[in-house]
Amino acid sequence: MQLSGKRAIITGSTSGIGLGVARELARAGAEVTLNSFTDRPEDHALARDLGAEFGVTARYIPADMSNGAACRALIEQAGGCDILVNNAGIQHVAAIDSFPLDKWEAILAINLSSAFHTTAAALPGMKARGWGRIVNIASAHGLTASPFKSAYVAAKHGVVGFTKVTALEVAGQGITANAICPGYVLTPLVEAQIPDQMAVHNMDRDTVIREVMLTRQPSRQFATVEQVGGTTVFLCSPAADQITGTTISVDGGWTAL
Ligand code: NAD
Repeated sequence: MQLSGKRAIITGSTSGIGLGVARELARAGAEVTLNSFTDRPEDHALARDLGAEFGVTARYIPADMSNGAACRALIEQAGGCDILVNNAGIQHVAAIDSFPLDKWEAILAINLSSAFHTTAAALPGMKARGWGRIVNIASAHGLTASPFKSAYVAAKHGVVGFTKVTALEVAGQGITANAICPGYVLTPLVEAQIPDQMAVHNMDRDTVIREVMLTRQPSRQFATVEQVGGTTVFLCSPAADQITGTTISVDGGWTAL
């Protein structure tokens, strides 16, 4: 299998895009480490079931990505990795002049600084082995802006910049760093908003998705976690050996507008 023998760590991977990416990496044969900040039996069961489904080694390591030392400890505890997917992220929507400081700091820590800490901890092993793939899950908001998402947009633009610097520092050493920039992806988080939007706008599901939620996504279709996962697997393939320091949009045309 394409990625057998490769060890992947995916931060924030108990749901949504992170879990979708972990599933596609496992489907391609990689050993996967799932992560979130909780330490519940169901977190470990999720990894066990995923490993059984794809016939790969899978485990769960709890670590809070808002804490730099915990980010580094995750990589240490996993014994390093060949593929690092920085995916953990949160959102808060408010005007700049009333944006809560604790939300600003949490978003910058989880969505941006965690990638610095995990990358710093993972790079020495990747350099020693002469192979590594770093895939940062940024966003269309890493390339464009929306009002009321100051912390998120700042963090995601920061992720794109950090990805470029990472790529330059390791160029020619068998290690690549790229950012995937999804538009709206149908994750449980987004799915949960659909009934409310239907009620508020008095529209059926398809109309609310097309006319309210996806107005900036020209395809008027959500991207899927499988598509983001498949893009990650592509970035880990030999075809992508010379793709580094760049962004790949999975956004139905959002950033072409
Ligand atoms: P989600 O809420 O479904 O998943 C987020 C994951 O991160 C969960 O597993 C959660 O437990 C984990 N997490 C949250 N805080 C954490 C912490 N402090 N430490 C460790 N793990 C933590 O969200 P999602 O929609 O799958 O988003 C995943 C990533 O994709 C985020 O970086 C998000 O910004 C990005 N993204 C999402 C969309 C979208 O439309 N869903 C679009 C573009 C980018």
